Amino acid sequence: MRKVGLHLRFQTSLVDMIEEAIRLDLDTFQCFLVAQSTHKTISPSKDDIDAFLRIRRERFEDLYAHISYWVNLASLNYNGHRALQRELDTVKKLEMTHIVLHPGSANGATERIEGIDALARSLNDLVKLENEIVILLENTAHGNLTVGSSLQDFYLLRKKLDKPEKVRFCIDTAHAYAYGYNIADLSEQESFIRLLDETVGISNIELFHLNDTKKNCGSRIDRHEMIGDGAIGQEALKNFVLHEKLAHIPLLMELPLVEYADQRAMVQLVRSWHVQ
Ligand SMILES: [Zn+2]
Repeated sequence: MRKVGLHLRFQTSLVDMIEEAIRLDLDTFQCFLVAQSTHKTISPSKDDIDAFLRIRRERFEDLYAHISYWVNLASLNYNGHRALQRELDTVKKLEMTHIVLHPGSANGATERIEGIDALARSLNDLVKLENEIVILLENTAHGNLTVGSSLQDFYLLRKKLDKPEKVRFCIDTAHAYAYGYNIADLSEQESFIRLLDETVGISNIELFHLNDTKKNCGSRIDRHEMIGDGAIGQEALKNFVLHEKLAHIPLLMELPLVEYADQRAMVQLVRSWHVQ
């Protein structure tokens, strides 16, 4: 059965968060390792970690940590390397399996390719040190100096990686659409899927961020919306994730801030697409 999950927000404790995942009947979830309220890396107590791990080991397989935005491995200036190390330590303590990393922006450069070079160097170093954690690079919405909005960036990046097979991908439908890939149109969606295969390779995609968006195609503005209420629409998203080449890839929604019942309804909606 295909895995369906949500992005959850760390509020009070790890145990509260994982219990919420169970109440929501999630197969998996993603979270930041930075507290919403303080914007500092979370520092849970040993008791909290132990209690989290008991549930985590029993109920979940893959768990995703979304790395914070102050890590920018494409920057020619400060790239947040130390923040990344801190977060990786927490990822290991919590026995999470994947990190989702935005490729970053080529700060201090005039051309995006310089950022792609910097990112390749950082990833080559990281891959040497990290064997257990799966690194997922996520496509982005903003274009310009931001790496990974154009899928071509990932094609160029992979050529610069020592071990390209070690760097995997998370594709966000809202980001793709905001950047200008019109996946709301079914024939353009088909071309997008072909492009995915030519650039990142479909076999290297390990996660979809299944999101709708408030803004138009090509707006380059990233504002997530409930599935079906946004500009991409339910039918196009359903068609995309059920495409025969993509139907095995886990789905994780990053919803706007909504009530429990609405989160639950979204999970049930997406599960209902998979029942024949
Ligand atoms: Zn995303």
